[in-house]
Amino acid sequence: MTFSRFHRAGIAVLDSRGQVLVDIPAEHAICRRISAHPRGGALGCAFDSLVSAEHQIDDVPQQANCLCGLRYELLAIRHQGETLGRLVFGPYRPENLTTLPRGLARALGEAGDVSDNAFLGSVQTDLERLEVVPTDQAQQIITAIGGVLSVIVHTGYARHLTSQIHIAAIQDAYNELSEKNRRLADSVEKLKDLDKLKSSFLATISHELRTPLTSVIGYSEMLLEGLAGDLSKEQNDYVRTILEKGDHLLRIINEILDVSRIESGAVQLNFETFDIPDLLRQVADAMMPQAQQKEISLTYDAASNVPVIVADRAKTRQVLINLVSNAIKFTPTGGTVSMLVTRKEVVDGGGVSRPSVEMRVVDTGIGVPQDSRDKIFEAFFQVDGSSTRVHGGTGLGLSIVKHFVEAHGGHVWVEDGEEQQGSVFVVQLPINPPADVRAKRSRSSALGGTLVG
Ligand code: ADP
Repeated sequence: MTFSRFHRAGIAVLDSRGQVLVDIPAEHAICRRISAHPRGGALGCAFDSLVSAEHQIDDVPQQANCLCGLRYELLAIRHQGETLGRLVFGPYRPENLTTLPRGLARALGEAGDVSDNAFLGSVQTDLERLEVVPTDQAQQIITAIGGVLSVIVHTGYARHLTSQIHIAAIQDAYNELSEKNRRLADSVEKLKDLDKLKSSFLATISHELRTPLTSVIGYSEMLLEGLAGDLSKEQNDYVRTILEKGDHLLRIINEILDVSRIESGAVQLNFETFDIPDLLRQVADAMMPQAQQKEISLTYDAASNVPVIVADRAKTRQVLINLVSNAIKFTPTGGTVSMLVTRKEVVDGGGVSRPSVEMRVVDTGIGVPQDSRDKIFEAFFQVDGSSTRVHGGTGLGLSIVKHFVEAHGGHVWVEDGEEQQGSVFVVQLPINPPADVRAKRSRSSALGGTLVG
């Protein structure tokens, strides 16, 4: 545009089919006046014929004149021998144009008419006011613009080629990625099928093992109670060992059953209102024999402002049992294990404050190494996974704890602390189940679940 204004002439770039790509009109008063005349439009500006006609173009500037005498210069735009389009410079007033060509008056048709004479007089004045651009200067200008355009076309074409190569490379990479994605999706599907198979296998096997085991435990208890006659001291010890091991086996089988139920999504929450100190007492009573065996002092305490909560009582009990049982297991003889419950306002990710209870199970045992504190909640993970490990277990207890707590809309984690100085497991449970937890529950009910509360 600056170029065009500076040289007082228009510039246009057309493609090989005559399509105008760039058009910066000169806006001369003379052109405006002629085109505003009733027959002016029909006269046609030379520019229109340069656009539409198969006008001869060449590597040196060609000229075309308008009926009013103004002139255009025309130049081919070529790249590697191929004609890409043309460049048009004009209209400009060449040096020898001082009076309007006779052809213009003829074309207007009614020369001699008073109004046409006046019109031609104004057009003549417009022409005289227009600054002259010498032809050789006009040709230099169009040659210079043509040169600049060639450089632009050349660079543009090189960029185009590079980007085509890039696009092809990216397309290849995309295709490869899509194929890998498809294979990955197939594998995920297969793994899911295998996982389901594993869960149902575990569920079936555990169920089948549990039935005979209940008989083993039941008959051992009957023998110990003397229902089949008195036992000698030695027989009594043997049967007691059978009972203990049977109980242990039953706990493992129950854990496996719980996990397979969790994985198949069959776990439902049975909400009821209950008192936390009551629950703590029951858990302490149940775990006391295990604690006494290792001379561990097991204590509990609930702050006076801890309210009754609405939750699944059996699952909350199971959470505490699993945590306390671990605490006893991983605490050396003579240590202490305590359950402490306080009321807490928990602010969730969305900034909403939710009244909750915080239950802490604190022990003086071996502690959980820093780098295992997240992993221990994964199923089957044990800090010491070797076959020579001192402490028994399946590695399922904490994954069950995590699932039960999160199903209530709560959280569980191990508190940061020095290793070897015991561990602190923290469970936060909402006092009332959040709306999304209730919604899940009512969906289960609609499917014919066995929910109460
Ligand atoms: P299990 O106790 O049957 O091995 P869990 O899922 O209950 O399985 O625990 C996983 C692992 O977390 C345990 O093997 C142990 O390494 C670690 N752990 C759990 N509780 C404690 C604790 N109170 N102190 C130290 N380590 C613990």
